[in-house]
Amino acid sequence: MNHEGHVGAIEAGGTKMVCAVGASWQEIRDGEKFVVPTTSPEETMALVMDWFVERDAETPLAAIGVASFGPIDFATDSIAMSTPKDAWRGVSWRRHVSRRLRDAAIGLDTDTNAAGLAEWRWGAAQDRQVAAYVTVGTGIGGALIINGAPVHGLLHPEMGHMVVPRQRGDEFAGTCPAHGDCLEGLACGLAVTRRWGHSGPQFPPDHAAWELESDYLALALVNIITIASPEVIIMGGGIMAVEGLLDRVRTKVRDRMAGYVAKEELASRIGEYIVAPGLGSSSGVVGAYALGSRAALDERK
Ligand SMILES: [Zn+2]
Repeated sequence: MNHEGHVGAIEAGGTKMVCAVGASWQEIRDGEKFVVPTTSPEETMALVMDWFVERDAETPLAAIGVASFGPIDFATDSIAMSTPKDAWRGVSWRRHVSRRLRDAAIGLDTDTNAAGLAEWRWGAAQDRQVAAYVTVGTGIGGALIINGAPVHGLLHPEMGHMVVPRQRGDEFAGTCPAHGDCLEGLACGLAVTRRWGHSGPQFPPDHAAWELESDYLALALVNIITIASPEVIIMGGGIMAVEGLLDRVRTKVRDRMAGYVAKEELASRIGEYIVAPGLGSSSGVVGAYALGSRAALDERK
């Protein structure tokens, strides 16, 4: 067994952290998960790192990959000061990992970029030059994977905060603390809950909530398609599990594009163009593994 290939993976979300170790992406997907609620950085980091230190004692970990909520400041490998999660401002992944696991390399990216990378390597975006991954859950995020690398540019994309035209009759102010009625403010899980007064997934599939939700998500995808020209768009996250929502989005994207991009992907093959994640709900933690395994390889060069 190649012990040097053992990698720890952390999918660090706003409500929970999912931790796993393994020597392959399948082991990460199928193996034991250690799940910790995201509370204070001190409490959460102690529980997470205690678990990895125990795993490291069994089989040394070459690297830890972290797929973190953001925004992320890559200059310091920290959670950026602009994060809406106040207690986590400036919390350094690098410092927390290296303090407890001195020999482990660290690979860090946003949870969305990591999930997109996992989908490109092993999921629904394999062999695509340009792929988009959009997650719709508590928040909304989007990644653009070009030739196998998540786009970073200035920082990293923040597609959840794009502006989409407010739909007629929708008076809801929006939930985004920074922008109010950006896409995330209008269409994330929290927005659905607050606008309609219940937890979204409890609504039946024919509830008006999902008609409006599909309007906003389709507009967002039209923006992504017109800017980035992806060859596939993967839609993950808890909200996308609502029955029929993905189909509504497909139909609205096709109608809104109105044949202007004359490709079958935006016509008869829309069902193969806007798709669910190939890795199911495992994209995030498998993405963390992808970041960790790459960091381990870079370290050995
Ligand atoms: Zn926003």
